[in-house]
Amino acid sequence: MKVLFVASEAYPLIKTGGLADVAGTLPIALKKSDIDVRLLLPNYSIPGTTTDSFISSQLHNLNTVCTLGNPFGFGEITLLAGNTDDGLDIWLLDCPELYSSPNDIKSGPYLDSSGRDHDNNHQRFAVLSWAGATLGLHGKLLGWQADLVHAHDWQAGLIPAYFKTWQQRCPPVVFTIHNLMYSGVFKGEKYAELGLSSELYNVDGLEYYRDFSTLKAALQYADAITTVSPTYAEEIQTTEFGCGLEGLLQKHKHKLSGILNGVDYTIWNPESDRAIAKNYSARNTGAKNDNRSALLKHNNLPLQNDAPVFGIVSRLTSQKGLDLVIDALPSILERGAQLVVLGSGDKALEAQYLELAQRHPQQIAVTIGYDENYSHLLQAGCDSLLIPSRFEPCGLTQLYALKYGTLPLVRHTGGLADSVSEGMDGKLQTGFVFGNANAEELAAAMHRAADVYSDKKQWQQLQSNAMKMDFSWDNAAEDYIALYHEVIAKR
Ligand code: ADP
Repeated sequence: MKVLFVASEAYPLIKTGGLADVAGTLPIALKKSDIDVRLLLPNYSIPGTTTDSFISSQLHNLNTVCTLGNPFGFGEITLLAGNTDDGLDIWLLDCPELYSSPNDIKSGPYLDSSGRDHDNNHQRFAVLSWAGATLGLHGKLLGWQADLVHAHDWQAGLIPAYFKTWQQRCPPVVFTIHNLMYSGVFKGEKYAELGLSSELYNVDGLEYYRDFSTLKAALQYADAITTVSPTYAEEIQTTEFGCGLEGLLQKHKHKLSGILNGVDYTIWNPESDRAIAKNYSARNTGAKNDNRSALLKHNNLPLQNDAPVFGIVSRLTSQKGLDLVIDALPSILERGAQLVVLGSGDKALEAQYLELAQRHPQQIAVTIGYDENYSHLLQAGCDSLLIPSRFEPCGLTQLYALKYGTLPLVRHTGGLADSVSEGMDGKLQTGFVFGNANAEELAAAMHRAADVYSDKKQWQQLQSNAMKMDFSWDNAAEDYIALYHEVIAKR
């Protein structure tokens, strides 16, 4: 089976969050089961150079496949091919006018240097979707015809809308929602720039309160919709989590399912991770302490063993509930606990965390920024990772934390609820869980963690439970393959 993945980011080429982890590692798991995957990405690059080109310089065997013409007036669109170190086949969409910007490196692919969405994001990602649809339809001409297109998030949401516009025999589309909050809504007057049929611009199509939503397009026209955990698949059908699309999701619930994300344990494994101070395993958690010491030393925090070191690796947004941590901290700091933070995002939250670190230099260290290597040391070095999200489609950091024997402390929502347990309902305890998004319940959970931490034997038992959990991609890949077969058979 040939499957064309279309996404706007993929680890290790370009990453802002969990979407990249999934788009870069699920295809590798699928390949192991003989699914032939190609991943289409924009060729984000620095203008004026070809040798320094940001994405393409990371690929092997780079070659030009063909031109896709100049249908949108942004200059010639060229298709490049190459592969990653892991042997993943990549198609790069080269269109310098759309994807060449120094800010793609500094601010990620969606924002300009002042942190605002690029003005032309509707065009940047309509062209990605258009190219995905074109390659899905005409792949035979290139000797690689997809049996199915797997599109990810709003950036690839228009693919089934192009298929609908062209009304030809197109491959089926599976669409995955990684985060419903980002629904690709743009001003209605921009619709004419996309080359889509005007017949789709209505409330039963992709119109969204006189604007249009690329994610809504996918919900309407994709053959199957998945999201990244079973609990989130249920939650998004309610007003609380549905971002205004809950009615539509209920209508399409026959084609909606949740498949929990997996982890690539060749990247996230304390036994082999080269970004941490000392490797360790479930049999030898003692060496985890060396990482704890290294993390504290790295941050000029004094070493203490009486209270836990809590960690945060996250985008700093209200979704992640990190404002609650600030309010929950005072009583937990009194117990001598420490907090190490790596994150970036909301400027007000960044400032609040920096201010906290200044006020508590012995207990809190904050790094504002994005640092893949340091995120590994932080995972290995802290005792408990805080993820108090208001909503969480899947969440990956708790899955990594489990493997590193770093007990996740999470809110009971989405994929966090599907992957971490405090030992209720006969489940094995692997972390700490609280229910309502308020500072009191979070503080109580942090105190429970600190209580257990003071009983080293019990803590080690929980670490051992956590490290035994297996969230490798194999199970999820099987579920996706079963879904691909089902969708193709229905055509
Ligand atoms: P989301 O996709 O909502 O940001 P996930 O938990 O699904 O949340 O995925 C986040 C990914 O991004 C993880 O791989 C995490 O380690 C990584 N990450 C988040 N913030 C940072 C940061 N500041 N530095 C390094 N990695 C980060």
